[in-house]
Amino acid sequence: MQDKPVALVTGANKGIGLQIAKDLAARGFTVLVGSRDFERGEEAAKSVGADARALQLDVTNQASIAAAAERIRSEFGRLDVLVNNAGISHVGKLSGTTLEEMAKAGRASVASLDEVRAVFETNVFGVIAVTQAMLPLLREAPAARIVNVSSAAGSLARKADPANRSPIMFNVVYSPSKTALNAITLAFASELESTGIKVNAGCPGFTATDLNNFQGTRTVEQAAREPVRLALLDANGPTGTFSNEDGPLPW
Ligand code: NAP
Repeated sequence: MQDKPVALVTGANKGIGLQIAKDLAARGFTVLVGSRDFERGEEAAKSVGADARALQLDVTNQASIAAAAERIRSEFGRLDVLVNNAGISHVGKLSGTTLEEMAKAGRASVASLDEVRAVFETNVFGVIAVTQAMLPLLREAPAARIVNVSSAAGSLARKADPANRSPIMFNVVYSPSKTALNAITLAFASELESTGIKVNAGCPGFTATDLNNFQGTRTVEQAAREPVRLALLDANGPTGTFSNEDGPLPW
């Protein structure tokens, strides 16, 4: 078994995931660049560095998840860090769509139930499926860390605050998927507390990526900081938290 720690980042062929992969490689990890399209994963892995490998992984496909876990077992025998980053905000192309139009399409009264299901399939069920499949490998690592890339848009406490009436927060497609992801973070953190495996949710902030038609205001370099910090927590670090770069976020 190699000494160098091994990290898997899902949805790492572009956006924030690709930057998290680059940052973890720079911190001395062998990085598995999860990508549902293997060739795009290979291209991305080249930009991550010499010790990065593409890993075909569609988080909504059980066979793909099982094959990925099997490959990690045969090549490394363990996994030190799992970053559940893969996520979608909508189905189909966004080209030309403004934030206002996105918020309108996601209103509770009109949102497509098929779209809600598809977003939950990736952002929620995909995280449970990948985490369950990788857990036996994470248990083989001396101090494994799981990071769920969440969003402040999933904060129920913020939504319940009458001062906050942003339509983006009240989208019924994406925001509830991140609320559920936060609940899942706590469920895994609680169950795994005695093992020393730490499970935390980190928000990258509103970042210019395909997810929002590049209308975000932060760079991927800024966005990667909090997920990477959570991936590198030492033995004294917390588990079961939700935070961004500025500190704890309300659940
Ligand atoms: P992005 O550029 O669209 O990247 C999303 C990544 O997820 C892509 O690599 C995409 O792969 C992958 N993905 C989607 N469905 C997948 C599936 N079924 N299996 C495997 N990979 C899949 O968006 P991003 O902004 O970097 O988003 C990364 C994470 O940050 C998401 O969880 C998002 O919710 C979260 N986040 C983003 C923001 C923001 O403002 N951008 C704010 C808060 C949280 P393909 O290239 O194959 O589509």
